[in-house]
Amino acid sequence: MVNDSIGFVPTMGFLHDGHLSLVRAALDACDRVVVSIFVNPVQFGEGEDLEAYPRDSARDRALLYDLGVDEIWCPTVEEIYPEGVDNVARIEPPREFAQILCGKDRPVHFSGVATVLERLFKKIQPTDVYFGQKDYQQTRVVDWLIQEYFSGIRLHVESTVREEDGLAMSSRNVYLTDEDRKEALHLNNALQSVLERFKEGEQDVATLERVLRECLDVPGIRIQYAEIRDSYTLEAISEVKDSAVACIAAKIGKARLIDNVLLHV
Ligand code: AMP
Repeated sequence: MVNDSIGFVPTMGFLHDGHLSLVRAALDACDRVVVSIFVNPVQFGEGEDLEAYPRDSARDRALLYDLGVDEIWCPTVEEIYPEGVDNVARIEPPREFAQILCGKDRPVHFSGVATVLERLFKKIQPTDVYFGQKDYQQTRVVDWLIQEYFSGIRLHVESTVREEDGLAMSSRNVYLTDEDRKEALHLNNALQSVLERFKEGEQDVATLERVLRECLDVPGIRIQYAEIRDSYTLEAISEVKDSAVACIAAKIGKARLIDNVLLHV
């Protein structure tokens, strides 16, 4: 147990076991644990699902209370953005992190994430913050934010929690119809196929990306990206030398889902 440590788990609520695994990790390691629930308007672009984003504050609070969280913080939009969401001076992470992969389709997303986290971290002053590998690119942006503004905060990245059939848990899975839900399994299956080929010795990125795309070439799946990048810098690479990450984003029905797997030599 670290002395006087404050673990912080920022979420947008509608909690599932993925979120709760972060909370449990924080509870195991920290003296106090704070969880925030805030659907951050500035990380949603125009036409995205800000209004539709699922919410269930009573259930979330009950789950967190049962786990023994010390503080559940559900700020209002006005509390976080007193100047009004249209007047926010955004923190812009470097383009090489923020305008690739998810940032290509969601150009304001990561500036919105960095902006809200800077405000949440300032208020909570955590010693330790907990994020999910599921949002891999986000973890790289958070790492950058900490280096820029909060040196000393420890970043913990916890493994992706999956349903029994392999689908990564996500608040947005509620958008999936039964039919979509079956198609969505191709995401994890594609990542597992790439991991298998990699373990067999394939290190050529073009070949591994071809495997990803072939596995996702299914009616009902609209790939937004399927790429393998350096796991630290997120730069494009031609060969997996040390550690890479295979990342997918795809639209299935009304949902936009993301998933990834790490490829370590
Ligand atoms: P969100 O509420 O979607 O903003 O997510 C809050 C935190 O939970 C983020 O750090 C996510 O990466 C993490 N998270 C979301 N889904 C999962 C999952 N399936 N497994 C582990 N962590 C997750």
